[in-house]
Amino acid sequence: AESELLQAQKMEAVGQLTGGLAHDFNNLLTAVVGNLDLIRARTTEPRITRLAENAFKAAERGSKLTAQLLAFSRTQKLATQSVDLNRLILDASDLLSQSLGANIAIKTDLDAGAPFVVADYNQLEVSLLNLAINARDAMPDGGTLTITTAPNQTDDRRITLSVKDTGTGMPPDVIARAFDPFFTTKPPGKGTGLGLSQVYGLVRQMGGDVDIKSEVGQGTSIQLSLRRSIAGTETAAAAQGAAESGHA
Ligand code: ADP
Repeated sequence: AESELLQAQKMEAVGQLTGGLAHDFNNLLTAVVGNLDLIRARTTEPRITRLAENAFKAAERGSKLTAQLLAFSRTQKLATQSVDLNRLILDASDLLSQSLGANIAIKTDLDAGAPFVVADYNQLEVSLLNLAINARDAMPDGGTLTITTAPNQTDDRRITLSVKDTGTGMPPDVIARAFDPFFTTKPPGKGTGLGLSQVYGLVRQMGGDVDIKSEVGQGTSIQLSLRRSIAGTETAAAAQGAAESGHA
């Protein structure tokens, strides 16, 4: 409980700081990209074109990063509703296979009896994608991604969505810091360290929780425990009340 509070406070502080920064930085990037566009349009010199392309790519990376920062520092309320979890996973499967590449097999094991949860559909999809991309990065030589839905074993008011890979796994010191904003073990330009902290923040806001089970050399399973909802009866207000204990 204490570490949860600390986690929430850390995220709030970083969120406030980054929200403002990301916004200003994005405006600067717009100016940079605009000027690069002009340079590209006005030169016939291949060397200049190439240099402009390089700068353009760097600016694009920067713009992706600021989008992630803005998503992370979001202050607006989530649109929570009753979401058919299995449907969401099936609807996202095309997107998932596109982002994973050919050497990763996707398996799904969906519990037909327990699909409705309290969630923001779009944000949960973003979270699922974030987890899948982490899984991909952990399986450079290929492997299997398994997405499972099942009733929570210890709490029947909850449904567990787990995203499991057969990748490198995480040592205990990485697990301990994985939810920290900006913690990454990936090379610069590849990792931002915001994926898992974003997933954590979103799921907590939906009244759920996130758990990591991982073993080095075996793989990782990220488990989202979400609140079960009775189809159609979940109101935004009820979900909001439950989310108040989480990160807002
Ligand atoms: P990023 O992916 O940008 O590094 P994240 O917050 O998503 O940021 O992840 C933080 C770190 O947690 C990663 O750098 C990686 O070391 C570790 N990690 C996350 N997911 C996995 C996974 N599925 N397998 C192995 N390590 C992982």
